[in-house]
Amino acid sequence: MKTQARVVVIGGGVVGCSILYHLTKAGWKDVVLVERDILTSGSTWHAAGGFHTLNGDPNVAKLQGYTIALYDELEKISGQACGLHRSGGLILADTPARMEWLKMAHARARYLGLETELLTMKQAKQLNPLLEAKYFVGAMWDAADGNLDPEGTTHAYAKSARIGGAEIYQSTRVTELKARADGSWDVITDKGNIHAEHVVNCAGLWAREVGRMVGLELPVLAMEHMYLVTDEMPEVIAFNKERGHEVPHIIDFKSEIYMRQERSGLVLGTYEQACVPWQPRETPWTFGRELLQPDLDRIAPNLELGYKHFPALAKAGIKRIINGPFTFTPDGNPLVGPVQSLRNFWCACGVMAGFSQGGGVGLALSQWMVNGDPGFDVWAMDIARFGEWATRSYTNEKVRENYSRRFSIRFPNEELPAARPAQTTALYDVMLKQGAVMGDSWGLETPLWFAPKGVKPIDKVSFHRSNDFKHVKKEVQATRKSVGVTEISNFAKYAFTGEGAEAFLSRLMTNKMPKTGRIVLTPMLNENGKLIGDFTIAKAKHGLFYMWGSSQAQKYHMRWFEQHLPDDGSVHIQRFDMGMVGLSICGPKSRDVLQALTDADISATAFKFMDHRGLDVANCPALINRLTYSGDLGYEIWVKPEYQRRLYEAIIKAGKKHKIVNFGMRALLSMRLEKNFPTWYRELRPIYGPFEAGLDRFVDLTKNDFIGLKAARAEKESGGKLRRVSMVVQAGDADVLGDEPIWHKGKVVGWVTSGGFGHHVGKSIAQGYIPKELVGETEFEIELIGKMRKARINHEPLFDPKGERMRG
Ligand SMILES: Cc1cc2nc3c(=O)[nH]c(=O)nc-3n(C[C@H](O)[C@H](O)[C@H](O)COP(=O)(O)OP(=O)(O)OC[C@H]3O[C@@H](n4cnc5c(N)ncnc54)[C@H](O)[C@@H]3O)c2cc1C
Repeated sequence: MKTQARVVVIGGGVVGCSILYHLTKAGWKDVVLVERDILTSGSTWHAAGGFHTLNGDPNVAKLQGYTIALYDELEKISGQACGLHRSGGLILADTPARMEWLKMAHARARYLGLETELLTMKQAKQLNPLLEAKYFVGAMWDAADGNLDPEGTTHAYAKSARIGGAEIYQSTRVTELKARADGSWDVITDKGNIHAEHVVNCAGLWAREVGRMVGLELPVLAMEHMYLVTDEMPEVIAFNKERGHEVPHIIDFKSEIYMRQERSGLVLGTYEQACVPWQPRETPWTFGRELLQPDLDRIAPNLELGYKHFPALAKAGIKRIINGPFTFTPDGNPLVGPVQSLRNFWCACGVMAGFSQGGGVGLALSQWMVNGDPGFDVWAMDIARFGEWATRSYTNEKVRENYSRRFSIRFPNEELPAARPAQTTALYDVMLKQGAVMGDSWGLETPLWFAPKGVKPIDKVSFHRSNDFKHVKKEVQATRKSVGVTEISNFAKYAFTGEGAEAFLSRLMTNKMPKTGRIVLTPMLNENGKLIGDFTIAKAKHGLFYMWGSSQAQKYHMRWFEQHLPDDGSVHIQRFDMGMVGLSICGPKSRDVLQALTDADISATAFKFMDHRGLDVANCPALINRLTYSGDLGYEIWVKPEYQRRLYEAIIKAGKKHKIVNFGMRALLSMRLEKNFPTWYRELRPIYGPFEAGLDRFVDLTKNDFIGLKAARAEKESGGKLRRVSMVVQAGDADVLGDEPIWHKGKVVGWVTSGGFGHHVGKSIAQGYIPKELVGETEFEIELIGKMRKARINHEPLFDPKGERMRG
């Protein structure tokens, strides 16, 4: 065994072997994989081997497309068969809402380059006569669906990696990981030690245990999962004979069943409601290639429905029942990437669909390790997306929710209940009393909208405009007319202190740092000049900067900041989390409200747009920014949590004569759309450049050198490829949600990133990206729940295009 390697990959399941192969492909040859038993001995060996491209996140769907396309290449390189059956598959919808979801998935597939087709039940029945059409309203065909041999595929990755120079040590268990001062690792195994520059945790069922070796409690939990293999079925044999090919895959949302052909019978798996976690605290090291005790009672409701939906099944004998564990994360997507505060420690675990996702995970992580960047948008599976609130019990509740919802559709206005409320501010009960409908914003309960007296504070879930529409409209209109207040504690907040703070921020950000008492808005870029952040930065005094950003990206950003921190101790970063909370007041009367709460001069000339002040407000020491995401006259007021309730009560009292209203996140997002403001994660992501995103005025190419400057210069010169645009949509009773294709002259040319209804301007608005050459065109269409809707670019914000309100 080697004693020195560039990378040690821990775990020889399909994911570890894929990482190993992709590292060699990316040019790193000195890489080893350590497996405690034999390859595939975790959850991989007993997988049902199905693969498909369907995923709620388009970037993960794309990555699944990559994985599925990779298998031919693997077979060629390794000479090892993957046992591929590319049968295609049907996804069956039993309700109009589920059909709408399929229509949206199909529309999304168009711009992702995936091959899907919407079918009537008559057409579906022709493709798979085993189904009983009367229980369904429609279907989608996914040509990429199929299944493979899990062992063969894992060995194909492993062989390809070996051909590329990698070494694999089986029957070798990692027992300890010791960090050296230079960021490298001593990997202690029961067969000797390896000194490695990098370590990758691909330990699957033992990912938590390997995480604990370095002080991490990873949000991963294994669930028991059952599938049945039937005896030979005459219907399957007849189908094969008549058609000359296999029975296509099936996903039946209603019975929560997936199904495919296995020899002359079928494999049938379920995602049952009465799901059961496996080893919720610790996976025993002694667990070998064992199966768990099957429990048919648990899946009886699914089978009962399944037998109705596919009558031939009811007559089929059951040859085998497999019950095995595999891991899930709270949102069902993998945990991939470098870990904040741990140098050279990487994760690729929590992969619940190793045969759909393993290749893409391997590609992303290897590029990340070799080039410093995953090369595409991996936010949906970035390990940094979970905060400290993702504890073991949170993970347990969410994973069970996620497992039992595996084949459920999620509506855009649907807030999932498990593990909530997790974090609340001092205003939680105050807001609830006033009718707040709460949403989960990175673990924090945040008001979405307010139900007036007599109206039930619940969302009716739908892809169309719903019961909140008229109430959100009132919140927006009252705010634009006079003044509204909303809680903004869910924003990320940071302080950068020390002699080196200004230089540090200048090196990371594209904009010049502000003068004392002033604010700047600034993107942050990676080395490739792509957007990895968008912040509001205020200079409080020499050596003290406050910064606000996206709540969801806090760990993602902290990881980046820490990676670039100078080691001379001249900069200190504080992430406030709930140590700083906020309220935003906006609308033309917001100045009057604030003035009533402070004796400081906050007139338009004394406290200008983009000013930052520390003031006493209602006897609370507060930091105030003169700007808001509403794009109206307004203020963000930040205080310590112990002052928030007092501050809120004082605002409501002072605002009474101006008929102040509470408004929620949905009203705030409606107002930002009217101003064409982009939002992190939707319009601003690491696949776009700052000029493509229309952030030109926040990028100063003449200031000091900053990360991404060279690439930004090149983008400025070339103009990039895309442009972010805002469009007015001739919508019906549904507004865009994001990820709809944008059509021009009969071709898909772009995609929607987000949208909704601008309640003040009374228009349905979409933001999205199109090729820059098309910006001068006027006529576009957006495919919205299966209908083509006319859309027209609006080059100016629909509300206050000159910014007179916010600057006034
Ligand atoms: C019943 C069932 C059906 C499934 N069906 C499908 C399906 O149809 N399609 C699909 O895509 N997925 C399916 N899956 C899920 C799939 O099996 C997983 O996504 C996949 O196996 C995850 O692979 P992995 O490499 O992450 O983890 P694992 O396969 O668990 O591999 C981890 C490896 O790490 C090793 N290891 C752990 N700790 C150490 C250590 N300290 N030192 C050395 N080695 C260590 C283990 O021995 C193990 O071999 C199914 C799973 C089950 C249980």
